[in-house]
Amino acid sequence: MSFQQLSGLEKPTEVVLRAISTGHMTHALLLSGPAGNGKIGFANAIAEFLNCTNPTDSDSCGVCAHCTKIRKLIHPDVHFILPIYSIKQEGSSQGQKTTGDFIAQFRPRFIDNNWIELEDWVQQLDSENKQVMIGVDEIRDLKRKLSLRAFEAKYKVVIIWHAEKMRTEAANALLKLLEEPPANTILILTTDDPSALLATIRSRCQQLLIPRIDIEPIQTELMQRYHLPEDQARQVALMAEGSVRKAQQIVERDSGQLSDKFQEWMRLCFDGRYDELSRLAEDLSKESREFQKYFLENALQKLKDTLHAQYLPETISLFIESDQKFLKNFSKVMSIEKLNTISELIDEAIYHITRNANAFMVFTALSLNINKVFKSKTLEPQKIN
Ligand SMILES: [Zn+2]
Repeated sequence: MSFQQLSGLEKPTEVVLRAISTGHMTHALLLSGPAGNGKIGFANAIAEFLNCTNPTDSDSCGVCAHCTKIRKLIHPDVHFILPIYSIKQEGSSQGQKTTGDFIAQFRPRFIDNNWIELEDWVQQLDSENKQVMIGVDEIRDLKRKLSLRAFEAKYKVVIIWHAEKMRTEAANALLKLLEEPPANTILILTTDDPSALLATIRSRCQQLLIPRIDIEPIQTELMQRYHLPEDQARQVALMAEGSVRKAQQIVERDSGQLSDKFQEWMRLCFDGRYDELSRLAEDLSKESREFQKYFLENALQKLKDTLHAQYLPETISLFIESDQKFLKNFSKVMSIEKLNTISELIDEAIYHITRNANAFMVFTALSLNINKVFKSKTLEPQKIN
């Protein structure tokens, strides 16, 4: 991938570009920093820039044979080492399995989402309670590969993902490689936790901190990947603590849950079940301000969806199944006026939440007001404030 595709990593990109352009690129780079901030994608981008046939001053071309193979993880001179769970191959003298046995599973995941995190990979491996790790056979295998002549590239690049997962024996084997690096070979280690690496490994690498990602790039990423509305994407970005992957997980995990919660809330409002509404307000008041806003932004979006469903019933099929039934029924009992009034009430609640009003009071008043809108034959609900 190119540097440009990794928005939010402009600073470390500058550092690497300067090192390469002045001939000071280290043969051993350690990328550290919090989880979910694109270290593996960044390592891949370095490999691509180093080997691109037709780079600009600041990025790879993305289309030459090297770039194409590197971003598909099929370049013969760019090697990946991933934590795996290792089973001794039964009745075999070949020792432990290595990344080569798993890379075909990893490729589509990385290509689909280069912000992939270790927990995604562990899930994919379905290794349950087994510990993933990088064994010594992996490093032996690597040494053998590096002793061969480069197939086609200027640089051989080795990317060791989650290097802290190296077993001691593997780390010691790698140390020797770091002490006597083969020519035109660049090792890139990534870790969320540099303190878990041997001090001798750390001291032989040049460390580059990959920082948390700013709000705006995360927001943009969410809008592009999930087509989230701008405000909602921003709410999630604020909750994600600088991790793009965490932001994605919030969207993936919460979209179903939020949808259920919204439906439940609307039913309770419709039926006027005050005790349960009060309990719901209490639950929501325990959440962070960011979540409260996110919940309300999501509700606004659902009301817009309902409006859509009224005007264009054929668009209902675009929604997930559990939403479809709800939208059909909900749009039957809702007039456009009522939808607009409820949207205004929610907007107002967002305003109060943003200004640190008592969340329990805000959600309670909002629910009662929405209930009045449902019951009213006239348009204006009575305000409870
Ligand atoms: Zn290229």
